[in-house]
Amino acid sequence: MTFEQLEISAPILSALKKEGYTHPTPIQEKSIPIVLEGNDLLACAQTGTGKTAAFSIPILMQLSENKHQGRRKIRALIVTPTRELAIQIGESLNAYGSELNLKNTVIFGGVSQNPQVSQLQKGVDILVATPGRLLDLIGQGEISLKDLEVFVLDEADRMLDMGFIHDVRKLLKLIPTKRQSLFFSATMPPQIVELANTILKNPSKVEVTPVSSTAETIQQEIYLVEKQNKNALLLHLLKNPKIETALVFTRTKHGADKVAKFLTKNGVKAEAIHGNKAQNARQRALTNFKNKSIRVLVATDIAARGIDVDELAFVVNFEIPNVAETYVHRIGRTGRAGNEGKAVSFVEQDEVAYLRDIEKLINQKIPVNKEHPFVPETPFDMSAKAPTKVQQQRPARTARPAPAQAAKKAPRSNKQRLTR
Ligand code: AMP
Repeated sequence: MTFEQLEISAPILSALKKEGYTHPTPIQEKSIPIVLEGNDLLACAQTGTGKTAAFSIPILMQLSENKHQGRRKIRALIVTPTRELAIQIGESLNAYGSELNLKNTVIFGGVSQNPQVSQLQKGVDILVATPGRLLDLIGQGEISLKDLEVFVLDEADRMLDMGFIHDVRKLLKLIPTKRQSLFFSATMPPQIVELANTILKNPSKVEVTPVSSTAETIQQEIYLVEKQNKNALLLHLLKNPKIETALVFTRTKHGADKVAKFLTKNGVKAEAIHGNKAQNARQRALTNFKNKSIRVLVATDIAARGIDVDELAFVVNFEIPNVAETYVHRIGRTGRAGNEGKAVSFVEQDEVAYLRDIEKLINQKIPVNKEHPFVPETPFDMSAKAPTKVQQQRPARTARPAPAQAAKKAPRSNKQRLTR
């Protein structure tokens, strides 16, 4: 299948060519015709599958065919959970619509609203927004959605995880009932299905497996290592000049800062991004990482959501996540679009139980590297079970719920979980 066969208009075809896209991805192949028909869409697809283009391309086509009269009015609204995702969607719209006369703007919280308001006042056709700032500006009368034609809810399951579901419900009362709605979610737990039912009318359903599943293009490896040796092990791995850039995950903001500081002190250019940093500092770090002026980006899970770095080949789980799905999500940052990627995880004794939980979820055993200089002197007990009740009751900052608890929170089938 080609983009031409999907009957994409010439200006968008030309823009896609400039982006280097030769063929539509499966989600694009399935979704674009449905959206162009004007139908509602329920899509089960995660980041990395090309879902942004799957909704952006037909929206751009539709809006450019029906020219706006007079001042631009918001005719498409895309709501997404994080600032990073919002910015990326804005960038994608700019890229795919570079040869069209359509305007989009991106609004999100954590920064001054004034520049966003002045963009809105100039008139936009497409608005990309995170829920909180969107509701604020609607409340202030800066945004009118009465001309809305298309509504997209992106990463609905993350909205739920991040506690935005009430905001989304509020928003639904503020948008026209006569509209086209597109709903994207990586997983479809019952609450999400219920939300989709309230938003969509007779939706067509599409589902894709990720371009890069954990099994296919990503080489995974476990390094068993004492906590106090993790920094040194990271530095050791980074001696390999073949690793041009690396994304390192830590569990806490403080941990991210500490690792970045350690690397910098030891001659590796690194920066940390996490929720405590101002939005422009996070954006700057991300840009520095993308243009390779820093080699290592250290991130917490929330800050890393939506990070999309082409050809990211190396992901390090400095601390492995206590929720198994997060592992799949983290390592999904590498090996995108069929590129080879490597994901290594540093596992200390206390994390063995989490490792077992991850292996159960992905249904494979991750090989252990036994050759590194920091192999623990006393072998780890690899049969370790989830933490006891006493350990679970640690203070919130360090508490790590047992895998069993996490599973209870998100009762998904293995198949559903693996699509993340
Ligand atoms: P997304 O799932 O929207 O986050 O997209 C993941 C990545 O795939 C982004 O870097 C896109 O630029 C890229 N991408 C999307 N569609 C295509 C395509 N048809 N061909 C090549 N790359 C694509």
